[in-house]
Amino acid sequence: MDTKPSKGYVYILSAPSGTGKTTIGNLLLKQLPFLERVITATTRQPREGEKHGVDYYFLQEEDFKKKIEEGYFLEWAKVYRYFYGTPKSEVKRITDQGKDALLIIDVQGALQVKKILPNAVSIFLLPPSLEELKNRLINRGERELELRLEWAKGEIPCAKHFDYLVVNDVLEKAVEEIKSIMIANRRRVSFILGGDNFKELGLNGELINLIKGGKCHVSK
Ligand code: ADP
Ligand code: 5GP
Repeated sequence: MDTKPSKGYVYILSAPSGTGKTTIGNLLLKQLPFLERVITATTRQPREGEKHGVDYYFLQEEDFKKKIEEGYFLEWAKVYRYFYGTPKSEVKRITDQGKDALLIIDVQGALQVKKILPNAVSIFLLPPSLEELKNRLINRGERELELRLEWAKGEIPCAKHFDYLVVNDVLEKAVEEIKSIMIANRRRVSFILGGDNFKELGLNGELINLIKGGKCHVSK
């Protein structure tokens, strides 16, 4: 898979369960037209209201394992009791269109993706405290509370291996901070010129041609 950022960035949003990555991911997807979520695969049962091909690709364990053998996944991990994996084809489909792919995955998967795609941008979302994390899990009606909290204590030290740390205390603030990271990347000269991504800058053709074809008169 091509890892050049000129095509579209790969973002990894990861956090201990209950921190708010799904909530934040949904807000980012609503607000940023260039962003698309990667639908991942899992062997767990759909929760009420979840749909195959929308929330996840729900697979039988046997099919999932077959797909591992076939090299179908960019990464896969066992999270709690189930398998989860990112289809390579999904990431490619999104970035080939020049869009940014948003991967909302667990910490093990995030570190795997970063190894395979060093240009991927990894963001670790933190709760303001462990107490608040517990409250959020309780409010969500989480049944496996103790398991998830214990797991979180092993995940938080992995924050040091990420590119960015964002605290989800006030929701809107966390969303704005992540948006700033994403927009800044799409304003990189390497991204704009490398992939001919002038469209969303709103520049007129004359200026685009000058930037692309003109001669900079400051000698370097
Ligand atoms: P994750 O996807 O990381 O497991 P969710 O997005 O499901 O987390 O969020 C866990 C719970 O916390 C949900 O009930 C959500 O509404 C709530 N939540 C998310 N962000 C905040 C926040 N900034 N302040 C308070 N509650 C939040
Ligand atoms: P849930 O079962 O609550 O939907 O997800 C459990 C955890 O698995 C969450 O942290 C979620 O982000 C993560 N997850 C979802 N898809 C993938 C994936 O493809 N790979 C990995 N490694 N984790 C995933």
